[in-house]
Formats: sequence, structure tokens, C-alpha cells
Amino acid sequence: MPDDTQISELARLIEEARRIVVFTGAGISTESGIPDFRSPGGIWTRMAPIDFADFLASEEARRETWRRRFAMEGTFRTAVPNRGHRAVAELVRRGKVTTVITQNIDGLHQASGISADRVIELHGNTTYAHCLDCRRRYDLDAVRRTFERDDRAPVCGACGGFVKTATISFGQAMPPEAMRGAETETIAADLFIVAGSSLVVYPAAAFPELAKRYGATLVIINREATGLDAIADLVLHRGIGETLGNAVGVD
Ligand code: NAD
Ligand code: ZN
Repeated sequence: MPDDTQISELARLIEEARRIVVFTGAGISTESGIPDFRSPGGIWTRMAPIDFADFLASEEARRETWRRRFAMEGTFRTAVPNRGHRAVAELVRRGKVTTVITQNIDGLHQASGISADRVIELHGNTTYAHCLDCRRRYDLDAVRRTFERDDRAPVCGACGGFVKTATISFGQAMPPEAMRGAETETIAADLFIVAGSSLVVYPAAAFPELAKRYGATLVIINREATGLDAIADLVLHRGIGETLGNAVGVD
């Protein structure tokens, strides 16, 4: 199908839909300068992820986790929403998109003007930290100052628990409330748009399958093929910013 036809088809599906859920992965934020994990040159081609069990078991793993996080700080701090984020925000503003379910931890959907109660973060948020035991919240700047001064992984001032960014690591339980909310919204959607996820991480990748099973039309926008292209109604192997931007009419 020629390019323009694909964009018109996407625009038509959006126009006809009454309840859209947008499901995003790291690919929507690469145009904001945040690298994804699985693209060629992505973060995992350079270093293996640290499992939650290792974080709990080893002071060195905790320190390495924090070193990596602080190495990314400039990237996360200066990133701003791009055309793809803006197009999604416009669809929320028009009342078309009820919920954004994201695997991202960068907070850019909220930064694009979508209210936090419409964004479901399946993998948490890396812009702040918390204690794994009592959940007390910690500002990253304060954590960094202590880390650099003591060269020890931070522990909670209130209860002594380990302090970690508010993200979900491999091997860590998924947040139950976010999972329930995402499931309800997915079942209720009549159009489900995936943007920038390789759809290989479960249980997150189960949502497009669920949407489809409950009768939604499934659209996948991703530069590379994904695990669920075969069951999608429309697959666009192209950049997210230009695709969503053109389909929605947002710069
Ligand atoms: P992924 O890295 O597995 O897949 C991203 C996909 O997006 C790739 O298939 C790639 O081809 C595609 N892509 C990249 N840029 C694109 C663009 N501009 N247009 C179209 N397609 C593009 O990402 P994932 O499935 O989200 O899983 C990785 C996990 O890592 C996530 O669960 C998330 O928690 C975490 N992560 C988050 C961020 C972030 O918050 N920005 C960044 C890296 C990793
Ligand atoms: Zn604590």
C-alpha cells in the first residue's frame, strides 16, 4: 500500500472510532533523544539489564544500577515531547483517546499535557525514586548527592529499605492497580493503537492481543516488524512522529 493511503486509512479509523486506547513503548520517545532498548544501537546492544533479584541481593548491582541511571540523567532531564506525543495529546484533547497505556518511564506523555490520571505507566517512572519497603518518595538530586558523597547505594532514611527509581525491573512484580486499569481500558476500546513497542515484553504485550479478542481494531506503528503484526488490521512500518502527526494533523 502506498504511504499516503496508509495515512488516510489511519485517519479514517481514528475518525470512526469512539474510544481509542494508545499503547506506547520506547519507540515513541526516540525522536525526543531517548534511546530505546531493542533497536540496532539500542541500550541493550551495549549492556545487559540488571534483574530485580540482583538489585536486592548485591550492593554492587545496586550501585551499578544507580551509576547507569545517573549517566542517563542529562538525557531524561532535557528530553521534551515530540510530534508523536503531541498527536496523542491532541487525540486526548478531542475526547477520542480515553487512556494512554505506556511502557515508558520518561514521563513525556504527561509533559505533553495529558493529565496524569489518563496515563497508565506499566513500568513505573524513572524521574523520581522511592523506598522499596515504605514507599517514601525521594528526589533524584538528593539521592545523587548522597551517592556521590558516600559511594554507597542509597537506603531509606525512615526505615532502612533500599531506595530505587520508581520503575519496574525485570523480575519485579507488575503494579497491580496499573495492570487492572490497563485491562479494563483495553477491553473497552474500539480502536487500539500501538506506537513504538517491539511487543516482545510480557505481560505488557498481551494488551494488544486482549484488545483484538474483545473486538477492537488493532493498528501497529513501528519502524521494524513486531511480534503481533500478523494479527493487526493496519501495520505501518514507519516513523511515529510523521505518521501520527500527519494522520491527526498536528505539527
Ligand atoms: P523496545 O526498545 O523493545 O522497542 C522499541 C521499538 O520501537 C523498536 O521495535 C523500534 O524499531 C521502534 N522504534 C524506535 N524508534 C521509532 C520511531 N521513531 N518510529 C517508529 N518506531 C520506532 O521498547 P519497548 O517495547 O517499549 O520495551 C522496552 C522496555 O524498556 C519498556 O518496557 C520500557 O520500560 C523501557 N524503556 C523505556 C524508555 C523510555 O521511557 N523512553 C526507553 C528505553 C527503554
Ligand atoms: Zn523506607
